[in-house]
Amino acid sequence: MAEINFTYLPGDGIGPEVGAASIAVLKATASKFGHSLNIEEHLIGGAAIDAGLKPLPDESFESAKRTGAMLLGAVGGPKWDHLKGQDRPELGSLLPLRKNLNLYANIRPCKPYPALIDRAPLKRERLEGVDFIVMRELTGGIYFGDKGRDDQGAFDMCRYSEAEVRRIANKAFDLAMTRRKKVTSVDKSNVLETSRLWRETVIAVAADYPEVELEHLLIDAMTMHMLTRAQDFDVILTENMFGDILTDEASVLCGSMGVIPSASLSDGGMGMYEPIHGSAPDIAGQGKANPLAMILSAAWMLRLSFGLDAEADIIETAVSAALEQGQTTGDLGGNLSTSQVGEWIADYVQR
Ligand code: NAD
Repeated sequence: MAEINFTYLPGDGIGPEVGAASIAVLKATASKFGHSLNIEEHLIGGAAIDAGLKPLPDESFESAKRTGAMLLGAVGGPKWDHLKGQDRPELGSLLPLRKNLNLYANIRPCKPYPALIDRAPLKRERLEGVDFIVMRELTGGIYFGDKGRDDQGAFDMCRYSEAEVRRIANKAFDLAMTRRKKVTSVDKSNVLETSRLWRETVIAVAADYPEVELEHLLIDAMTMHMLTRAQDFDVILTENMFGDILTDEASVLCGSMGVIPSASLSDGGMGMYEPIHGSAPDIAGQGKANPLAMILSAAWMLRLSFGLDAEADIIETAVSAALEQGQTTGDLGGNLSTSQVGEWIADYVQR
């Protein structure tokens, strides 16, 4: 029997709705396998601001640090758009969580479900067999460098240390060793000095993984290769901004962003798990939100933070079954509500 102790941060918009569905599935899974579930629920983002707190309240951060496993819905929405900088829900909560907990390795899968292939804009033959993971560096690069304005304009500094590149490269090669043993490193080494350091360091790390094939691609070419030969990729390794762009492109191959989880991991085993979509204020509170990405994020938490592979597998199987049997919300053509999808998956898990 395992003790599944984690920090639950539902956040804003549809976050609490898809979150509730994922909690129902976690409860069903814990009960089936005889595990104990201890959920530390805390405020984050706009919900925290509305309660008179910071976007990342101290108690939320302390809980995250203590449990080391976080399940996050989404943050932000038009209600808080007038706020500036660190007062904003997203900037004031997600970036400090990532930075302060050193969640530097962000992973997102791209493996189109057969039931959704016809929803993607590419031809079926380009999508069948696609199965890759993007490993994106999350706490360095241009998003975290000095930025500002001067009399002539504006600037954003992009900086990477060798150690930052080395640790994310190690994560990518370790992951490739558990898969098809190929790493595609994406940079802009024909122009950027940070990319030249990136490439040199990745080549040095690759020497420790002789079984893994290493390929280098420039980011501009990669945006095309992802559409023309997505089947060739296994682990795609890239820096923060390129990864931000590529992961959105990859989500289109899956036919819907409502089915894509993500994980942000540190070295000491900390992990934050969240769907890739945002708080969808346009449909919040209507029971229309598709909870599958959040449910899959919960499955990833079980696998990556608690080592519960069989439990994660059964949730993933249930999600595939829901898609095949049309037990989905309206965005995927079904007619179930958010909570009904959660109940269907929870029932399937308990069969
Ligand atoms: P979004 O992902 O919230 O929504 C984009 C579109 O997809 C909307 O039409 C929405 O209804 C739909 N959609 C998203 N998730 C869905 C789901 N689970 N089921 C069905 N439909 C879904 O992106 P946006 O509109 O650009 O952003 C809305 C807010 O979310 C903004 O405040 C943004 O900053 C925030 N955001 C937060 C995160 C995060 O918390 N990690 C990520 C992205 C955006």
